[in-house]
Amino acid sequence: MAEDADGTERDSAAEAGDGFWLYDLKVETVLDGRTPVCRHIEGESFAVEGEALVFGKGQRISMYALAAVLPLLPAKQRLTSPNDWISTDAEVACPDPHCGGRFRITRTKKRWFSHSETTGLPDQRSTPYWLKEGGQ
Ligand SMILES: [Zn+2]
Repeated sequence: MAEDADGTERDSAAEAGDGFWLYDLKVETVLDGRTPVCRHIEGESFAVEGEALVFGKGQRISMYALAAVLPLLPAKQRLTSPNDWISTDAEVACPDPHCGGRFRITRTKKRWFSHSETTGLPDQRSTPYWLKEGGQ
C-alpha cells in the first residue's frame, strides 16, 4: 500500500490496474553443425503464449528435451533485470550429454494479462481470460 499526500491509502497494484505482462516465447531447435543423438531437426520450433505451448503443423520436440526446457519458460516469460542471466542466456542443451541438440528461447512480444482473469483465488477471480472474447 502507498499513501497519498492527503493520507489516502492506495493499493499500488490497483492503481496500475490488475494486469501484468508476460513475454511470448519461441523455442527453436539449433544444432550449429553438431550431430544430435535424439530426433532434433534444426529450425523446428514451438511458441509459448501465456500458459499454452503452441505447435505448428508437423513441429515436434523430444519429451526429454522438453523436460529440460520447460522449467525455464515461466522465468523467461517474465520481465527480468538486464543483468539477470535469464535475460541474457538463451540456449538450453539437450539432457543427453552426448547429443548436440540445443534449444534457443527467444522473447517475441509482450502480452498483457489480468490478475483476476488468471488467478484461481476464489475471492479475486473473474471470467478466465481464455473464455473472454478474443481469448485463446
Ligand atoms: Zn538430444
